[in-house]
Amino acid sequence: MSKARMRKGFTRRTFLKASAAATGAAAIAGKFGKEFVTTEEAEASLAHAAGRRMLYAACPYCGVGCGTTVAVEGDKIVGIVPRKDHPTNKGLQCIKGLTADEPLLIDRFPARYADRPVWIRKDMSDPFKGHVSRTKGADGMNPKHFRRVSWEEGMEFVADKFAAIIKKFGPNQIAIWSSGQHFIESLYLENKITKGVMGSTTIEGSPRMCMTSAVTGYFATQGSDLSAGSYRDVDDADFITHWGHNPREGHPVLFWRIADAKNRRNIPTLVVDPRRTPTVKGYEQINRGNSYHFPTVNGDLALHNSLAYAILNKHEQAVDYKFLEEHATGWKEYIKGVKANYNYRDPAVRKRRGIDIEPSLIEKIAEIWADASLKGRKRGRGGVISFWGIGYNQHLHGQHNTIGIYNLHALTGNTGRPGAAAFSMTGQPNAVGRRMMGGLTARLPFNQGLNNVSHRNNIADLWGVTRERLAAVAELKNVGLGIGVFERAHPDRAKTGAKDTIQAIWLTCGTHIDPADTATLIRPALMRTFNVSQELYMHAPNNYYADVIFPATSWGEASGTFCNSERRVNINSKCTEPLPGYMPDLDIYIEMGKKMCRRLGLDETKIYPYKKRADGWYDSEEVMREIIRGSRFPGSDIDLGGMLEVEEKDGKSIYQQLAELGGIQWPAPTYKVAKAGGLKYRFRGQEDKYWPDKAKHYRDYRTKDGYLHVRLVNNDYTKREEITAQMANAGVTKGWFFIDNMNVLKAARDNGLTPEMPDAEYLGRRWDEVPKDKFPFWFNSGIVYEHFHTAKTIRAATTRKLVPEQYVEIHPDDAKDLGIRDGDQVKVVAKRVDPDTGRQAEVICRASVGDGSKVKPARNSIPRGMVFQPWNLQVADNPDPDPAKNKWMTNKLTHRAFDPVSGQVDYKKGVCRVEKV
Ligand code: SF4
Repeated sequence: MSKARMRKGFTRRTFLKASAAATGAAAIAGKFGKEFVTTEEAEASLAHAAGRRMLYAACPYCGVGCGTTVAVEGDKIVGIVPRKDHPTNKGLQCIKGLTADEPLLIDRFPARYADRPVWIRKDMSDPFKGHVSRTKGADGMNPKHFRRVSWEEGMEFVADKFAAIIKKFGPNQIAIWSSGQHFIESLYLENKITKGVMGSTTIEGSPRMCMTSAVTGYFATQGSDLSAGSYRDVDDADFITHWGHNPREGHPVLFWRIADAKNRRNIPTLVVDPRRTPTVKGYEQINRGNSYHFPTVNGDLALHNSLAYAILNKHEQAVDYKFLEEHATGWKEYIKGVKANYNYRDPAVRKRRGIDIEPSLIEKIAEIWADASLKGRKRGRGGVISFWGIGYNQHLHGQHNTIGIYNLHALTGNTGRPGAAAFSMTGQPNAVGRRMMGGLTARLPFNQGLNNVSHRNNIADLWGVTRERLAAVAELKNVGLGIGVFERAHPDRAKTGAKDTIQAIWLTCGTHIDPADTATLIRPALMRTFNVSQELYMHAPNNYYADVIFPATSWGEASGTFCNSERRVNINSKCTEPLPGYMPDLDIYIEMGKKMCRRLGLDETKIYPYKKRADGWYDSEEVMREIIRGSRFPGSDIDLGGMLEVEEKDGKSIYQQLAELGGIQWPAPTYKVAKAGGLKYRFRGQEDKYWPDKAKHYRDYRTKDGYLHVRLVNNDYTKREEITAQMANAGVTKGWFFIDNMNVLKAARDNGLTPEMPDAEYLGRRWDEVPKDKFPFWFNSGIVYEHFHTAKTIRAATTRKLVPEQYVEIHPDDAKDLGIRDGDQVKVVAKRVDPDTGRQAEVICRASVGDGSKVKPARNSIPRGMVFQPWNLQVADNPDPDPAKNKWMTNKLTHRAFDPVSGQVDYKKGVCRVEKV
C-alpha cells in the first residue's frame, strides 16, 4: 500500500465510544456502543470488485486467535472480514485485527534492493577480533553503512560466521531470540536448526516477556503446559475472575463474550488490577452490584492465601475434600500453611499491598467464590473461571502467581469440568504454538523437556540428527534464560572472559531491541555481539543493531498455522506473493540449515528432505505433516495424528481441515476427534470417552503421579528492604549481573517481593522539589486497546491515528501536587543510569490526566501513587527507533529482575520520578 488509508467509516469515536455486535452481544450494544465490528459491517466497508478471493486466516495479533477472511484482489489484500462461522470470534473483530493488512506495505525494504536483498554492515562487530561496530545504533540504518548482496552470498556469509563461532567458542555462544509471531512450521524449523543443527540451547524470546510464568506454573501444577478449558466455558461459569488481566483492551473479543454472558446470566465478576481499567468499568456498566475490583500493586500471593483462609474459615462446605483426596497432592500441607500463617488473616495482609483492600471485600469475594463452587459442583458444569494475562505473569514471582491461582481452584474443586478452569490468556497470536514446538531453552516439541531421554531420542530421529547430538545439547545451560542472554552478552561481563559469553544473536520475527532495561542491558549487549536480524520492516530497531539483515516476509505473504490460547490451531492462507527480494521465514530456516549442515558435517538430505513447490518456495504443509507425525510419539501431549487419518480416509488435506473447521483444538488423537475439531476440555477424565488409549499416556493430570500438585507459595515482606536493595545493583553497579546472583532473585521470589520500592514519603511534592535520588511513584507498564506489539499497529494508519503518541497516565490529584497539567510534556525518570547520556534513564511524553484528558486515548484509570505507560508505543511512530535517542522507549525505565524459574521479567513494579519538561 503506497498510501496509508483509513477504514471507511471507522473513526476513533466509532471504536472508543460506540458498538457491540453479532450473536448475543446485540443485547449489550446499548450499553457499550461500537467497540467492535461485525462481519456485515466489515463486508459493507469493502467496495465490491469482481474476481475477489476470500481466503481464510487468523488474526496476526493477540492470543484470542480470531478467524478472519482476507479479501484479495489480484495480488493485493483489500480488506479483512471477521468469520461468522469461526468458533472463537463468531463474526466479531476488534480494530487491530480488522486493520491487520494496513501495515503490510509500509516501511518495507525498497524494491531497488530486490536483486541484492541481504544487507551486510561494513563496520561490523567481530567476536574474533573483539571489534565493536561504531556505526550501530545512532546512525544504524543509514544505507551507506551497508553493502548489499544476494541471498546466496548473504546466507553463506552468516553460515561461515556461525560455524566459526561454534568452532572457536562453542554452539551455546550463539543465541536465537524469537517470538510467537512466527507460524508453527517456522518455529519447528527454528528449533531444529538451533538445537538439532547448530547444537545450542540458547533459544529465547518474547515468551520470557509474556507467558513463561504460566508455562512453568502449569507444569508445576497439572504437569502440562496448556489451558485445560475453552472459551465456551464462559457460558457455563458462575463467577469469572481476572488477575492482572484487562481483556477489554488486551483480548477484546474474549471480553465481549464474557460481557455478553454476564449480561444474560448476571454472573458476578472480579478484576484484580491496580488500575480501574476499561474492563472494570465495562462490567460495572452491566451490573455495578456484582462487579468487584481489587486494586493491588503486589501482594498477589497474600491475596490468594487470604481468600483461601476466608473460604476455609467461613465456607468450609465449599472446600472439595473429595476432589482433593482423589485427584490432588500437597493440599494438606497447603491448608495447614494457610491456616497457620498469621500473614493471611485480613488485617495483617492489608499492610502487604501497595494499595489497601477492605477486609470485608475479601470476605465477600470468598463468599461468592464458595457459592459459585457449590453451584458448579452440584450441576457438574460451571463454578469459577480465573483468567490471567501477561500482567500476572510479569512478576519476579510470576510462576508462584500461577500456582497460587491454581491452589484456590484445587481447594474448591474448580478444575476439570466445563465452566471451571484456571485459564492463562496468551499475548502473541502463536504464543502457544511456540510452546508447542519447544522453542525455548531446554525444551523440545510436544510439551517435553530435553532431559526426557526417550522423547529426546524420538525427536532426534524425527529431525534426522543423531541422538548423541541432542544429548550433548541437553548438557548445556542458559543461566538466566531470556535476560540471561543479554547479561551473557553484556560487554562488562564479556570482559571478565566468562566462557558462556554470547558472541552472536539471531534476532527473528519481532522487535527485540526493546525488552526490559533497554538502556543499561539490551543496547550495550547488542552493540557488542554479531547480530543477524530477520525482519520485515526497514526501520525496525533490530536493524539498527544488525550486522546482517535478512528481509523476511510478513503474515499474509506465506501460509502457516497459529495456535491460540484455547489450544486451537488455526490456518493462515498465503494471500499475496512475497515482495521482491523477501523470503519466507520457513525458507530462510531451511536454506540456512542446509548451509550449516555442510559446515558441521551433518546430512542435509536427512534433516531437510523438503521439496520446493512450483512457486519456488518450500511447502509449509509438508512441514506440518512432519510435525503431526512427531506429535504422535509417546510422551507427547499434543497428538494431532487424527488429522493424518482424516487426510488419508477423506482426502482432505491438513490445511483444508483447519480451514473448514475454523481450527482444531489439540489434542486430536483420532479420526473422530479430529473431525469434531479436537478436544474441548482436558483432565480429570474429561478426555477419556473420546480418546480410547488415553490411559496409556496419563491418569487424571499429566504430572508423573497423575495428581494435581498443590503447594503453598508465600508472600512475606519481613526482609523486603534488605533483598530489594540487592536487586538495585542491576544496571547501577558495574559488573553486577543477576546470572551471577541468582540467590537474590530466588529470595525475592520466595517472599513475593517487588523489584523496587517507591520513596512514597516524597509523594505530594512539586516535581522540582523531589530530590534527584528519590523515586516516589510506582511505574507500571501495559497495553492499550488500539495497539498490539511495537511493530505493526503503529504503522497502520487507522490505529496510529487513534493513539498516535506516547503518554503517561497520572492521577489528577498527583498531577495537581506535582504542578503538572493535562497534556504537558513530562519526563519520567528511573534509577538506572543510561550509559549513552550518563543521566538517569528517562522517557519524554505527554501527561494524560483524568478521564477527559485531551491526550488520546483518554482512558485514565490510574490510582494515586502510580503512573502507567503503554509499552506498545515505545518504538511506535517515534522518529528514531534507536533506543539511545528514542524518547518514548518505555523499557528504558523497567527493571530487569525476573522469575528465576520462568525467566519472566517483572515489568509491573518499577519506580520513577515525574518532572515537567
Ligand atoms: S487482536 Fe485479538 S481480539 Fe482483536 S481481532 Fe485480533 S485476535 Fe481478535
